[in-house]
Amino acid sequence: MKIARRLQDLAQSDIRRMTRECERVSGINLGQGICDLPTPELVRDGAIAAIRANKSTYSFAEGAPELRTAIARKLARDNGLKADPGTEICVTVGASGAYACAIHALLDPGDGILFFEPYYGYHLNAAIVAGLTPQFLTLEPPDFAFTEAALEKAIDLKTRAIVVCTPSNPSGKMFTRAELQTLARVAEKHDLLIITDEIYEYIRYGGREHVSPATLARDRTVTIMGLSKTFSITGWRLGYAVAPAPLTQAITLVNDLDYVCAPTPLQLGAAAGFDAPKSYFDDLQSSYQHKRDLICDALRKARLEPIVPQGAYYVLADCSGLGFTKSRDAAMHVLEKTRVASVPGSAFYRGATGEKLLRFCFAKDDGVLEEACQRLAAP
Ligand code: GLN
Repeated sequence: MKIARRLQDLAQSDIRRMTRECERVSGINLGQGICDLPTPELVRDGAIAAIRANKSTYSFAEGAPELRTAIARKLARDNGLKADPGTEICVTVGASGAYACAIHALLDPGDGILFFEPYYGYHLNAAIVAGLTPQFLTLEPPDFAFTEAALEKAIDLKTRAIVVCTPSNPSGKMFTRAELQTLARVAEKHDLLIITDEIYEYIRYGGREHVSPATLARDRTVTIMGLSKTFSITGWRLGYAVAPAPLTQAITLVNDLDYVCAPTPLQLGAAAGFDAPKSYFDDLQSSYQHKRDLICDALRKARLEPIVPQGAYYVLADCSGLGFTKSRDAAMHVLEKTRVASVPGSAFYRGATGEKLLRFCFAKDDGVLEEACQRLAAP
């Protein structure tokens, strides 16, 4: 039987492939962004209580009211965004689910969608499956900054949307307010949709401010956020989209058709999590800062010079000193030698730049991360 044409050039992501390779050698997985830290009790017990209370049927397609109300409160408190929980928020199966629903609901096959490179491969490939035409603006380390002129040049008559992942997977770049103002201006001029991915919003370093692009372009932005990283529940698959009511209505329509709703008892557990005190979110930052510094030191010792991230929990490191022409080979070499898995940079770039990079995820318990660091840094 035939496979659909739109899947023709797609293969399973190296993010997942490296997890299998890692299991094969019983290694430490710093590849896939699994985030196997403990789930806060509030969240865990909230879900268990919901299951015990038999709250196990469908929620509304746009999500349980308890969670949407908690999200609206959180958006006002932490993001400076006002959203009506009744009409402007749709809870989805992970942030990936929100992204898939948004691109299917708001874009047509053939529409151009612009990515900043390095990009998160799932953003790109999900867009290809949706029949969109990917376009790129490549950003250079260490700042991954861009100018208005470069952005204008990357846009053509086909372009309908720009994807902004901030803090970025894989680079850790946090888009500055000035950059996002430029982006908003250009989007306005060309009547473009902005689709964000802010799933790492609470993981940032050096006191950097997270700016939600919607605060600068509310009417044309779909804000995508998630619970996975904030509450270490990547396997619960909970995310949400925030957008003006007509856009949210369209996104909810697709969410209903594709998923019906996100898992109800898990939604209720996550809703409880937003009652966590501010100190929970502050501690998250300081504990990740320690992990970031730990791994960057180890990578320097291993002569894998890190591009120190500003946010998120990944670090890109220069593997060109290992002497491989393909980052896949470099990742396999590091895995065989140290039993530490990473993701080849080619998963995040179209061209040669990615072949010189490996991505390491440091969302690990300190003990496990220290062991991985020792293995990497050992001569
Ligand atoms: N977002 C995570 C990463 O970049 C996990 C993605 C996945 O498992 N597909 O590694």
